[in-house]
Amino acid sequence: MARMPGATWHPVRNFTKGGQDSVRGVVVHIMAGTLEGSQAWFNNPVAQASSHFGTGKAGALRQWVDTADRAWAQAAGNRTWLSVENEGQGGDTLTDEQLDANAQVLAWAHKTEDVPLRLATGPGDRGLGYHAMGGSEWGGHTSCPGARIVAQLPEIVARAKKLVAGPTKEDTMPTPLDVWAYRNKKQNEAAKKATGKEIPDAYGYLQQVAADNTALRTEVAALRKDIATLTELIKKG
Ligand SMILES: [Zn+2]
Repeated sequence: MARMPGATWHPVRNFTKGGQDSVRGVVVHIMAGTLEGSQAWFNNPVAQASSHFGTGKAGALRQWVDTADRAWAQAAGNRTWLSVENEGQGGDTLTDEQLDANAQVLAWAHKTEDVPLRLATGPGDRGLGYHAMGGSEWGGHTSCPGARIVAQLPEIVARAKKLVAGPTKEDTMPTPLDVWAYRNKKQNEAAKKATGKEIPDAYGYLQQVAADNTALRTEVAALRKDIATLTELIKKG
């Protein structure tokens, strides 16, 4: 039993219970249709077809078959590969949102089934594959998912790697603006504590600094005067 967090569960009736022998990787498909149309088809026993996952062009990610069960997407490849059907027609490219959704599935397969984050070279390999790579044993679907999507597979691997790695140092490194905003916030808090007044912005802050400087100058001038007076008194003895 494995259902992917982040995918919405829409169970369909076409699958082989407990039939997933192992998981070599994830196979990318193109539906030649819509997300809803495919879901209806996979609920139709006449179809003799299904897939574990489905994506919509706007980024919907559905799970149709539990990964403990065998989906019917790529014939001889069904027992050992998970499947993702993507909304669209032959010749399409996957949308940016679909690339993300496929990367999520691959990253999850990596975490749960130790699928390597790389392109699979064929049915006996592991990683991210596509329907046509299985040749006639996988049903001879030479145009699924199409050359343009096959060319996008490295991008899916790259995005999956980022998901697995989590946010990088660069992603979380503050920009100069973040630093400025943080300091401004701290100074605001300090000023509010000290005076009960907010410093609303950088200009206000600069005005505060200028006022503080003036006050300090006045104090220093007064001290100088005092020192001069004391010095005179010492000289006089
Ligand atoms: Zn296919």
